Amino acid sequence: MPEGPEIRRAADQVEKALLKGTVLDVYFAFDQLKGYESILKGASVKRVDTKGKAMLIRFDNGYTIYSHNQLYGKWYVRNAYNYPKNNRQLRLALHNEKKSALLYSASDIEVLRDEEVPLHPFVAKVGPDLLSEEVTAEQLKERFQSKAFSGKKWTSLLLDQSFIGGIGNYLRSEILFLAGIHPDYRPKDCSEEQLERAAEATITMVTQSYKHNGITNDLELAMKLKEEGKTRREYRHWVFNREAQPCRIDGTEIQKMKAGSRRLYFCPTCQRKLK
Ligand SMILES: [Zn+2]
Repeated sequence: MPEGPEIRRAADQVEKALLKGTVLDVYFAFDQLKGYESILKGASVKRVDTKGKAMLIRFDNGYTIYSHNQLYGKWYVRNAYNYPKNNRQLRLALHNEKKSALLYSASDIEVLRDEEVPLHPFVAKVGPDLLSEEVTAEQLKERFQSKAFSGKKWTSLLLDQSFIGGIGNYLRSEILFLAGIHPDYRPKDCSEEQLERAAEATITMVTQSYKHNGITNDLELAMKLKEEGKTRREYRHWVFNREAQPCRIDGTEIQKMKAGSRRLYFCPTCQRKLK
């Protein structure tokens, strides 16, 4: 499943294409949305926001298209009316003179008035989006220590979209590794220093993954490994997908476990329990 950084990169592409001119043609596959085709035709897109794994296409006439790709949705940005060859079902198409933004396979698409957006059940519940909002490490640390979250395990918090929007399974392992936190821990088991490291690691990993095509490993090391001929799978992450491989810091074997029925990877040395 794509995580926040992948959705933000898709949003950047969609935004770049749709800012090129008035939307001249609109297509919705779902009957209940057909009525919006004529409303959005002739309007312009102001910007494209993300809220966790949801995308919000903001028009200048007071309407917003909400979409959530879930497991299957995929955006394509192409020259106008140049449809890709695939076996997917087209669900939404926005065309201007130069470009088409095409959403395939997604079923979670709605059109909202701008004032309805904050009330949408997903948007209302989702936590801060580090790629669309200004969030400081200090604010994140306060969030970790708040009553609602401090007593829950990091492993479930980091997949909980109401905690922080857009974090998914590979980021969860990578953040805990970088922060040096054992997967059994909750925020309230952590020292002040660990909480600070967790806040910094969260921002660093989400931002780096967004800017560098999903690479969460140390960038210099990743580059070096790539030059040595290693595959993307081999150089991409610190611990994720690296079961039984040596830790990049101390050589300990990376372990794999299940947490919340999803796989998690960690280094027993870098992430040892403190008490
Ligand atoms: Zn280690």
